[in-house]
Amino acid sequence: MPIDDIFVQLLNSDMENMFKQIIEDYKDKIPKEKQKEFTLENLNRIFKISEIKRITDPQLPKPHEKKVIEDCQRCIARIWGSTPPIAYYCHQKKKYIYGERCSRPRKDGGDYCGLHKNRQPHGRYGELPPHEHFEKYLVTEN
Ligand SMILES: [Zn+2]
Repeated sequence: MPIDDIFVQLLNSDMENMFKQIIEDYKDKIPKEKQKEFTLENLNRIFKISEIKRITDPQLPKPHEKKVIEDCQRCIARIWGSTPPIAYYCHQKKKYIYGERCSRPRKDGGDYCGLHKNRQPHGRYGELPPHEHFEKYLVTEN
């Protein structure tokens, strides 16, 4: 069943419950000659909802545009990156590549972003890490 049909059914069912309550509360308070018309069937017939119209289609939030930061504007701290982290020996550069470089922008003209300004738990990207936690993820480059 289409979702709009379900809405219509629910609305009509709610209306019917409301009509029952109204009849219950007001049937003795209306003139006698009108009471015959004051029935659930009549109220349903008069007020029945047959369709709903959407004013606008539901909109999905726009995907967040990722800002690309130039390398010279980028924090130089090493981050763990993926799990497991990248860890290999690059024969071309003749050095070990551990983890990834932080992608946040540098702050206050320094080398690091706000998060790494005072603390670089994995050291500087391009230098050896200050610990050996990356060693166990080391893979051999072919
Ligand atoms: Zn950073």
